[in-house]
Amino acid sequence: MKYLSTRGHHDRKQFCEILLEGLAPDGGLYLPENYPMLGKPELARLRAVWQTKGYADLAFEILSLYINDIPSADLLALCRKTYTEAVYGTKDIVPLKQLDDGFYLQALSNGPTLAFKDMAMQLLGNLFEYELARRGETLNIFGATSGDTGSAAEYAMRGKRGVRVFMTSPAGRMSPFQQAQMFSLMDENIHNIAIEGVFDDCQDLVKAVSNDAAFKAKYKIGTVNSINWARLLAQVVYYFAGYFQATNKDEQKVSFTVPSGNFGNVCAGHVARMMGLPIQTLVVATNENDVLDEFFKTGVYHVRGTVDTHETSSPSMDISKASNFERFVFDMLNRDGAKVKSLFGEQLSKTGQFDLSNGIAAALTQYGFASGRSTHADRLATIKSTYETHGVMIDTHTADGVKVAHEFLAKYPQPNVPMIVLETALPIKFASTIVEALGVEPTRPVQFEGIEALPKRVLNMPADVATIKAYIAKVCD
Ligand SMILES: *Cc1c(COP(=O)(O)O)cnc(C)c1O
Repeated sequence: MKYLSTRGHHDRKQFCEILLEGLAPDGGLYLPENYPMLGKPELARLRAVWQTKGYADLAFEILSLYINDIPSADLLALCRKTYTEAVYGTKDIVPLKQLDDGFYLQALSNGPTLAFKDMAMQLLGNLFEYELARRGETLNIFGATSGDTGSAAEYAMRGKRGVRVFMTSPAGRMSPFQQAQMFSLMDENIHNIAIEGVFDDCQDLVKAVSNDAAFKAKYKIGTVNSINWARLLAQVVYYFAGYFQATNKDEQKVSFTVPSGNFGNVCAGHVARMMGLPIQTLVVATNENDVLDEFFKTGVYHVRGTVDTHETSSPSMDISKASNFERFVFDMLNRDGAKVKSLFGEQLSKTGQFDLSNGIAAALTQYGFASGRSTHADRLATIKSTYETHGVMIDTHTADGVKVAHEFLAKYPQPNVPMIVLETALPIKFASTIVEALGVEPTRPVQFEGIEALPKRVLNMPADVATIKAYIAKVCD
């Protein structure tokens, strides 16, 4: 299996080459040359692997279809090291919880940082360590976070040989729980940097450092952002695990509703569907930042500016543009790299939007997408009704998913098609909104008792590129 760019570059690369790279040389995103198509016998075989050997071995089977430059025994060992009951708290790793008849939550947030990003990031940490050791290289991950991504990256990379993490975050703007999660890490290779400014200032610093090619090369600067193909691939696995739990025969279909921001999670669902997993509908749920809902309703993709990007109570979905969306558009346009290049490389930067309304209806039927949006009031009402009816506490992002799933099913009933809503975080991460909705504090997993009181390891810095570079240089030299 080789990888190509969504913008038509002629290079074809191996998995491990793109593992440590960000964008393709032409600014596109990497995708496999084709999606391996699984027939009925192959699906039945994977179901048996899931049932008899569990999640890690299922991950190995699916990853093997896309990775041919890591020996099988090594890949299997990496998967088994990553997806353990000790780390995820359950044998099934991603168990379904039934809310109503045919309506489920899929728990993806039982990893170390209590958000679904652990599912991919934990594997990425092990893949990075493996590949860097094989090459005898080191990597300095430099990133910006407003919460979930940064902590997932730090918990994945802590103590890993050959990797350092420099993670900037806007000082005082993350929830106390999120700050405690990140800043209480004492590992030598983890560097928390609180920036005097907002998240955009942090992102600007990352861009400035990435644009300095000499510095980037000298200090081996890399990223772990959501456009990394390995992250997406890791996420494909839990769509299979969800499907196998909700069905008992491979003729049956299921639908998924996915709380979405950068379109990474739901894009993994699209890949699973392209591989032949019987998915009826992929419902994209957004919050007030509804760039994606607008696209799936109108065919117009219109990215927002900073002033039009709302700060919401489901903050990990507060996006102005959806960085993985280009992957789906590439497939939707029958993999026409030149067209994607003109849309994303030219039109979007010039006008801030493009219009695919001509083909959208056909594309939605062919690829099974639907969408909806949710607001703060919806979130509160959904958290409350889910708690009162089922005794289950859900987080704000998952609530966006549950709200949109119900709305979708009311309009387009799908009898005999189970609906699975992906649970993307646990409520404790967003305690203040839970208190607003329910009047009670969310339950806290025991390993997080009292973390706010632990000593913190964090440096405060101005939003100044020279200061940051000097710090990275001092640590690395
Ligand atoms: C990152 C995140 C999302 C959005 O996922 P995308 O892959 O960016 O669409 C949703 N919910 C939570 C809790 C997240 O951390």
